[in-house]
Amino acid sequence: MKTSHRNFQKLFLANLATCGVLTFAAPPEDIALKLPVHDAHGNTSKKIEHRLAPEIYSQSPFSQSPVLVSKAPVAGSTAASSNPISYHGGSIMNGVSKIVVIWYGNWNQTNKTDTPAGQQIIRDAIYGLSVQNSNYNYSGITTGYASNLGLFTQTGGTFVTQASSPVINEFTQAAATTYGGKTLTDASVFSLVKAYAGSGDANAIYLVLSSSDIAESSGFLTKYCGWHTYGSTGSNLIKYGFIGNPNKSLSACAVQSTSPNGNAAVDAMISVIAHELVETVTDPLLNAWYNSVGSENSDMCAWTFGSKTKLSSGAYWNVTLPTSGGQTRNYLLQRQLGVKDSKCFINATGPVQ
Ligand SMILES: [Zn+2]
Repeated sequence: MKTSHRNFQKLFLANLATCGVLTFAAPPEDIALKLPVHDAHGNTSKKIEHRLAPEIYSQSPFSQSPVLVSKAPVAGSTAASSNPISYHGGSIMNGVSKIVVIWYGNWNQTNKTDTPAGQQIIRDAIYGLSVQNSNYNYSGITTGYASNLGLFTQTGGTFVTQASSPVINEFTQAAATTYGGKTLTDASVFSLVKAYAGSGDANAIYLVLSSSDIAESSGFLTKYCGWHTYGSTGSNLIKYGFIGNPNKSLSACAVQSTSPNGNAAVDAMISVIAHELVETVTDPLLNAWYNSVGSENSDMCAWTFGSKTKLSSGAYWNVTLPTSGGQTRNYLLQRQLGVKDSKCFINATGPVQ
């Protein structure tokens, strides 16, 4: 799509009022290489946001505090989307070399969520999302493990073959004034990624995962739960995203306050991480797979969970994934889109649900 620089800038400045909605046309490559551009507040609209959770709290007439309404996470429709995504000519990621995690803030707190055990749940999930076999194929919904769901291809026929990687590189960065202290901006997220990416690996996915005392001023917990985009470092375009621990306002980014791994905020992050990884491989430069209102594949199924099981603790789960240590964990992950029929699934070989 041909878009003049001026028009692009004008469109670029249009603020994204609705999460998950991309309002600009795909930029030509020479402009894309210079992006992201950040405004005076350090924020960019050139990112795809993961919208907030549907409201699960109601207000008690006798209390100022929100009251949790006990209900199951939404299963979601089994019908095809009425506004399916389509291919717009850009690149997909064919093979992911590694996931680079940058832990920002303090992940060693006594609040029962920003903890080393919480980090391990996330590490296990990222590993589990890289596995595709007959028993574990949540990622296969996206990667063509079961070809009946269709392939996320790019021009030339190359298609998405991985949604994550078993190779996980980790860095830890305490809140620092260089990055805005306890308030990140989109610009400081990019600075963090550049600081740890070196010349950058175009086949890696970089994730900034912040502890629950860290804000992100472009709208974490008020407009979104996470986002992904890309930028240039060295001579490479790198793909990166932000997902914060939502414990400060759990209902904004979680559909249950009791979770399968005993850490509701971290469990909620994992569903968002799965969403962002899948979107990053199918639309890494925001110019490949999306629909007419800018929704990417995971957006089509966001906050729906299909068939699920309730534990005696009250927590729901719907997907089991292996860990690198030979164990398994259960998660409540949002469904993903089978591109062929534009329906949402929780695994690549089961029925639509
Ligand atoms: Zn999304």
